[in-house]
Amino acid sequence: MRRIAVRLSIGILLSAGLAYSAFGQAKPYPSGDVQKTYERLLKEIDKIPMYDNHAHPGYADDSDVDAMASPPDESATLRLRDDNPEFVSGAKALFGYPYDDLKPEHAKWLAEKKSVAEKAGATAYFDGILDKLNVEICLANRAMMPAYLDTKRFHWVFFGDSFFYPFDNRDQTASTPDMGVYVPLQEKMLSRWKKQEGVERLPADLSGYEEFVRKTMADNQKRGGVAIKFEAAYFRSLYFTDPPREKAEAIYNKYRAGGVPTAEEYRIFQDHIFRRITDQAGKLHLPMHFHSAVGIGDYFSLRNGNVLNLENVVRDARYKNVTFVLIHGGWPYEREAALLTAVKNVYLDTSFQSEMLYPSQFKAVLKQLLTLYPDKMMYGSDAFPFNDALGAEESMWLAARTTRTGLAAALAELVDEGAFDETKALELARNYLHDNAARLYGDLKR
Ligand SMILES: [Zn+2]
Repeated sequence: MRRIAVRLSIGILLSAGLAYSAFGQAKPYPSGDVQKTYERLLKEIDKIPMYDNHAHPGYADDSDVDAMASPPDESATLRLRDDNPEFVSGAKALFGYPYDDLKPEHAKWLAEKKSVAEKAGATAYFDGILDKLNVEICLANRAMMPAYLDTKRFHWVFFGDSFFYPFDNRDQTASTPDMGVYVPLQEKMLSRWKKQEGVERLPADLSGYEEFVRKTMADNQKRGGVAIKFEAAYFRSLYFTDPPREKAEAIYNKYRAGGVPTAEEYRIFQDHIFRRITDQAGKLHLPMHFHSAVGIGDYFSLRNGNVLNLENVVRDARYKNVTFVLIHGGWPYEREAALLTAVKNVYLDTSFQSEMLYPSQFKAVLKQLLTLYPDKMMYGSDAFPFNDALGAEESMWLAARTTRTGLAAALAELVDEGAFDETKALELARNYLHDNAARLYGDLKR
């Protein structure tokens, strides 16, 4: 039986006109004209609508584009500085920007364009940006959703970190200059959730607080939330222990009405709440998103933010029903992140990498990722408004172009090295750019 099947398939392939070399082993160097293969693939890849797994769409003066803000001394990497000339190309492609630089007297043309759109307040503006970039759906990771984003195209991802900060946070706030910016914003987010849920004071016991957290998550899902996001890597280690409930309960009872917890007490309490959030995310079928790459600011800990800290959680059999998404794909530990997606319920996106890395560098990342678990990799931009002139729009353009060109290049090399044919290459491209995410969030129409 087996022999017949093999013969049959060879017969089919030969009659389809494929050269015998199609059966050969892949080679370390491409043969043929990689540039031509690249151009052919790019033409097809440009037609594939994208599903952006992670972005912060919004206007520059809208503080809800994130639950936190930039730290006081941010060192931007070269490509993400606002003098990157590529942004001029983005502004031309999106708006027909008439100048060749971003000098303040020219950049105000762009700022004016955005201010007019903001004043009009219509959803057509950001829908139009998605249309120009051939993006079908974009997940909007924001504190709250504004009226100017069309919820059919922009799906809300809300933040969960504020549940970690119910007590007197003065020691946390004072721990680094960056935490001095971040923690008060978490307090603000928590008070917004409390207001939403009609909770005035902290509940009398830990069970009450857990119920408040669960209820907020369920209500946010009803209000359109498709995932819960954690920026925890900015605040603490991504390593979460599983402390006994009594310990967390004692800490809650001690500090509910006042007093400053020690760093260790706060960590234990947070680890416990994190576990309850994870249980609830499983029940609600609400994916959990984690910032899993290097972060901005002088005090971001690469060691604490390393995606491998999450391994004990994502490989925990109790959480088989919880979907985990490693936002930014763990960079610079992107191979570690990719290997974690071997777990059935773990996914990643390449947001932020697609903006920060140049296409040749991003090509190398994609070449690796797509040959590991290609059904778990998703496109993402991490688009974010830089300033009044350079908005989330140009940032979205940069990520989209880097991704389409880097992807076409990675696939062209693999095709010409004999790894697979162009049909397979385009199937991988469709899954990564759109279908994997659309399937995950229930938006796949086909
Ligand atoms: Zn982000």
